[in-house]
Amino acid sequence: MNQKDPSNMISNNEKLAADTLLVRNYLACIPEKNMLQDAERQQYRHDIKALLKEKNAVLVAHYYTDPELQSLAEETGGLVADSLEMARFGRDCAGDMLVVAGVRFMGETACILSPEKTVLMPNLEATCSLDIACPIDKFSAFCDQHPDRTVVVYANTSAAVKARADWVVTSSIALEIVEHLKSNGEKILWAPDKHLGRYIQEKTGADMLLWDSACIVHEEFKAKGLMDMKAVYPEAKVLAHPESPASVLAIADVVGSTSQLIKAACELPNQTFIVATDQGIFYKMQQLAPEKTFIVAPTAGNDASCRSCASCPWMGMNSLQAMYESLRDGSNRIKVEPELAKKAMIPLQRMLDFAAQHRMRVTGKA
Ligand code: SF4
Repeated sequence: MNQKDPSNMISNNEKLAADTLLVRNYLACIPEKNMLQDAERQQYRHDIKALLKEKNAVLVAHYYTDPELQSLAEETGGLVADSLEMARFGRDCAGDMLVVAGVRFMGETACILSPEKTVLMPNLEATCSLDIACPIDKFSAFCDQHPDRTVVVYANTSAAVKARADWVVTSSIALEIVEHLKSNGEKILWAPDKHLGRYIQEKTGADMLLWDSACIVHEEFKAKGLMDMKAVYPEAKVLAHPESPASVLAIADVVGSTSQLIKAACELPNQTFIVATDQGIFYKMQQLAPEKTFIVAPTAGNDASCRSCASCPWMGMNSLQAMYESLRDGSNRIKVEPELAKKAMIPLQRMLDFAAQHRMRVTGKA
């Protein structure tokens, strides 16, 4: 096509205008959260702060939770981070009680690493599609069918699945650990996220047998919509979490864990970023790079089948009200049976030791 031909320029301009409209419509359709009245919100924040103090409790919140909870964690001497950093911080902090704003496997991991502490969660129903899709009985049978393989599971699994594994990994250390296992000649059984598994397989060339499940949030990102958005924002860099489909990762400028994406957002010179992960991460990105613009990557193309819209429904179950009630009543306590915790600790510790030996900071995502 001759770009200098005026008729082509018109059609290109028309296409860009149509794309812009599509993108604007998409952005306008993102539902607003059901916000509390300001006075109510301030009252909850005040009461939660008082209860945290009274109970010698520490609040740790995941990057994907409501910014309200992330700021509360920061203001009260807690932490906003990925799941492993949340658990490690919880283990090392001086409090008697941990309040985990995240999803269930994060509460369980905190419990395994801090057996002497009381671990509460705002909502015990907050889970993860990866955890749900990897039940221990089926997973165990799968492992039994492949006794020659080293079992590597993602952090987004139940304590029982972790206890059945040889290694637990998070998204930012998974490549290094699989590379290490491959150099030892080991064949791998990987669970549960197939997109992350495929990404690691491609990067390392390791022999990996993949469990078939996905994160419902990341699976909704679509390459076609992303290409349309890139046409509207040609100067933007695309940041994507490796739980996204391969077609999305192929377009991304940076693929990485939550912490790696936040780092890229801060360090790259670009002003605009299209981000393919849960939009809760924008709180930290915007805080660290206030002069930059972050745009949510499109989900579900044009077929309106989006189940997540870049916002994890389970992370969204962590609210100020639920947190207040859990703290006030001591309810929603997470427990992991001690024998199970001891077994799950082995592959978790293996990862932490590997990270320490390689002087890596273990970071990950949900
Ligand atoms: S964002 Fe995906 S991986 Fe993270 S908790 Fe939600 S469903 Fe699970």
